[in-house]
Amino acid sequence: MTVCGRFAPTPSGRIHLGNILCAMLSWLSVRSKNGRYLLRIEDLDAMRCPRSLADLIEDDLKWFGIDWDDGGSAGGDPWYQSCRTAIYDRYFDVLKDKGLLYPCFCSRAELHTAQAPHRSDGTYIYAGTCRNLTPEQIAEKSKRRPPAWRVRVPEREMSFTDGCQGVYTENLAHDCGDFIIRRSDGVYGYQLAVVVDDGLMGVTEVVRGSDLLNSTPRQMYLYEQLGFAIPQFYHMPLLTAPDGRRLSKRDGDLDLGVLREKFGRPELIVGMLAKAAGLRPTAQPVQLSDLVADFSWDKIPKQDIALPEEILQ
Ligand code: GLU
Repeated sequence: MTVCGRFAPTPSGRIHLGNILCAMLSWLSVRSKNGRYLLRIEDLDAMRCPRSLADLIEDDLKWFGIDWDDGGSAGGDPWYQSCRTAIYDRYFDVLKDKGLLYPCFCSRAELHTAQAPHRSDGTYIYAGTCRNLTPEQIAEKSKRRPPAWRVRVPEREMSFTDGCQGVYTENLAHDCGDFIIRRSDGVYGYQLAVVVDDGLMGVTEVVRGSDLLNSTPRQMYLYEQLGFAIPQFYHMPLLTAPDGRRLSKRDGDLDLGVLREKFGRPELIVGMLAKAAGLRPTAQPVQLSDLVADFSWDKIPKQDIALPEEILQ
């Protein structure tokens, strides 16, 4: 079977060095296996994700040496999550018909005061306030505000072998809790959209940051319930700033706009990232395509990677 991978950026800002490392490893992983590579734009929150930013991301990727076989602006609307609501509706209905969903009327303030244990990542486990509402209670509450929708998760261990991080296990009820798949304003959540899209697009491997590792058991549950094959996951290390912080879009000084200006040639940035990610012994400039032949996940570290010093000079 042909390997199929993808890069799925959220265009809420220009891509930064951490995103480009993710694009780089996902592209190398697929190209080293002669696979298909897709570009999907995760602009579910269309207000925060203008097309102009998605177009800039494409430009940055091409400049860096990344190409794709389908998707992006050339592929048109089907590759923008903001245009796929009718598709998500269908799969939402499948889950609803299976009795796996329930409406949740809790406000943000109620969620914060609910007595629920917090996860290590700062999010909390839903206390189950709306889990067993009667049809009458639902009808009554619906008059006041539209509900969000949650997936009812079972008491169940979900385990998988990540291609980078090794075995990862979570108990859905204890470590995750019932999770939202559609917000009260009707916008679908990342968890549903990513599973439906990867499922329908035939994605066989998912490469993304280790900050999403604990989303995967939830997604595996959705893959299973919707009848899609579960892809191989690789949760790659994140880049950290000198003070140990993980890089984010707020680090504007490390976005591709600034770095393109500063370094001029992509080979310089590829070389620094290749060394930081364990793919080359030195930061010698190199073309991305020259890293395909001897790419291997065995070389990539599990732990977060400190920002290459050369980039800060
Ligand atoms: N859109 C997500 C992001 O930009 C990535 C989701 C994924 O790769 O599953 O962080």
